[in-house]
Amino acid sequence: MQIKQLHLSVYRIPTDRPEQDGTYDWTSTTLVLVEPETDTGLRGLGYSYADGVTATLIKETLAPVVCGRDVQDVGGSWSAMVRAIRNLGRPGIASMAIAAVDTALWDLKARAVGLPLFKLLGPYRDAVPIYGSGGFTSYTEQELVAQLAGWVEQGIPRVKMKIGRDPAADVARVRAVRKAIGDDARLFVDANGAYDVKEALRQAERFAEHDVTWFEEPVSSDHLDALHFIREQTPSMDIAAGEYGYDRFYFRRMVEAGAVDVLQADMTRCAGVTGFLQAAAIAHAFAVPFSAHCAPELHAHVACAAPEFRNAEYFHDHVRIAHMLFDGVPEPVNGCLRPDPLRPGFGLELKRRDAERWAV
Ligand SMILES: [Mg+2]
Repeated sequence: MQIKQLHLSVYRIPTDRPEQDGTYDWTSTTLVLVEPETDTGLRGLGYSYADGVTATLIKETLAPVVCGRDVQDVGGSWSAMVRAIRNLGRPGIASMAIAAVDTALWDLKARAVGLPLFKLLGPYRDAVPIYGSGGFTSYTEQELVAQLAGWVEQGIPRVKMKIGRDPAADVARVRAVRKAIGDDARLFVDANGAYDVKEALRQAERFAEHDVTWFEEPVSSDHLDALHFIREQTPSMDIAAGEYGYDRFYFRRMVEAGAVDVLQADMTRCAGVTGFLQAAAIAHAFAVPFSAHCAPELHAHVACAAPEFRNAEYFHDHVRIAHMLFDGVPEPVNGCLRPDPLRPGFGLELKRRDAERWAV
């Protein structure tokens, strides 16, 4: 069975409310979808939450090296794609383009043998713990509290909020959330690199009073020395970073620097299922806990195949978009996502007519 062609679509979905974190504002999210089709007419699907131009790169540069290959030859396709973008640079758009195609090829391979992807990959577990994530800095305190407390009521005992626009407001909002979610739920914060080192340390001290146990990107995740320093100064909370990692050398540098207590990776950025499992192996080799960033409907499968795994991010935006575009999105049960053992591939089917509305 050979890959005959890659069908490409781009969807831009407006957010339900304006969204903002410590360093970025957005009102829509773009999804670049790849549907590889075989010479027998079988189709798979995969995607990246990426810029629309990613589709052009896939069409012009990646499709020619993937089409004609055997459907089982996912590693060969992945290597050919990495070679094809050599002169463009591996991180960024090129890596997200590879991610979308690699994800679709794994989905197709699993469908070809009639297995859910997590079974095909060889799972260490059949469910992954999640944390509810959103809590944007653009939300009113009331909206923030309602969203995070809602997840806890839903049985998800870990929640994460954005911080980093206003240090004084951050502390007040953390206090309000802690009061609303009670003492038992874990509370995480994510500054998206908005603070400098001293500010981050002062804030960590204040957050510790409200039992915050996870401080994501207190400073830019490129400042490995600073992350390491903050990590040593804040033993009561885990320092997490890695969502902008695109290749194995990035993840290796991060853990070699002792920059994180938890390494994060995003398969829609770090070159797909193949790249995510490489990152998982690096975390495992350094005995650093591993976590998935965003796209929970995809990570639910792949995280089952990571040798060690802490948690997956149940991200408000992507949960909403996945339900708008696909049937078969896994629902949280007891704070976990359990991939459907009866649906092949990622278990997702495009709701083509619904999706048309968002096509660009
Ligand atoms: Mg983050």
